[in-house]
Amino acid sequence: MSSINPLDLHTDPRHFVGKDVYAVAGNPISHSKSPFIHQHFAEQAKQKIHYGRLQPDIGTFAEAAKSFFAAGGKGMNVTVPFKLDAQALADVLTARAQLAGAVNTLWIADGKMVGDNTDGDGLVRDLLAQGIAIHQSRILLLGAGGAARGVIGPLLAQSPKALVIANRSNLKADELVKLFANLAASREVALESRTLADLEDATKTQHPFDLVINATAAGLTDESPLSVQAVANIFVPSSFAYDMVYGKTTAFMQQALQRGARVSDGLGMLVEQAADAFLLWRGSDLARLIEPRAVLAKLRS
Ligand code: NDP
Repeated sequence: MSSINPLDLHTDPRHFVGKDVYAVAGNPISHSKSPFIHQHFAEQAKQKIHYGRLQPDIGTFAEAAKSFFAAGGKGMNVTVPFKLDAQALADVLTARAQLAGAVNTLWIADGKMVGDNTDGDGLVRDLLAQGIAIHQSRILLLGAGGAARGVIGPLLAQSPKALVIANRSNLKADELVKLFANLAASREVALESRTLADLEDATKTQHPFDLVINATAAGLTDESPLSVQAVANIFVPSSFAYDMVYGKTTAFMQQALQRGARVSDGLGMLVEQAADAFLLWRGSDLARLIEPRAVLAKLRS
């Protein structure tokens, strides 16, 4: 009996003659919006592609990715929980993938597997598209996991005034501050770490913040990383609260709304990181043809 996961059949390049085949790999993957997003970009740019979903079992990502490319697959997006496996698999890492410590986009160039990370630039483009000023702003980044690390480089590149990384445990946030210290210094950004508990004490951190980004996984379980006291310190009506989780008004977004701040979920980041991957694969000259904000509007409707 075949051991092929039925989801994987939709990514086998041999089934799509005349089209270049791409896939998103994750586990679980059935609810991924990436096929919808990429098919829309392909229609806008008149590209003949098929984009499917691939669900390797945990521990089998490398095998699945190698088979996909060996069968003729042109490019792969990678999501939870395989971004570190993808980084380990890539022969070559772009500078931003090295900084991010994870890979969300793979393709083959000159016989080598290249790994990149488009998440951070996707976030920055979504913020800018929403009219949020990053340059010279005071930013609070909640969380110190993979998603947080991936966005620090692109945020620092915009030269904010300050970036405070706050996490439940201070160890991981401290490590990120060390890792990005040189980049922050070169951009004249005050980069600091705090615990989430520190945010409750108005004497420990300069409040409020212009931009607060929730990169914790708390939103997935309808929790907020912020206590009532922290919320009172952090937000003013001119603040903007961005949750990387998408598809709902999270507890974090509700807290910000109650303080009169503006909010966004992370759906725009998902679309913008996908746009970056599409252009890496199909050619940057197609940038004038694809319309990420129109695809985002379709996803929201
Ligand atoms: P990780 O598992 O690497 O990190 C999780 C982080 O969340 C850690 O800092 C952890 O803190 C913190 N955390 C988890 N639960 C809580 C809680 N209840 N209260 C406070 N802190 C908590 O996950 P990722 O960084 O990969 O992903 C984080 C989120 O970002 C996910 O929800 C993911 O879906 C989303 N994401 C969205 C993207 C988009 O395109 N919109 C792209 C990438 C990610 P500690 O270290 O103390 O455990």
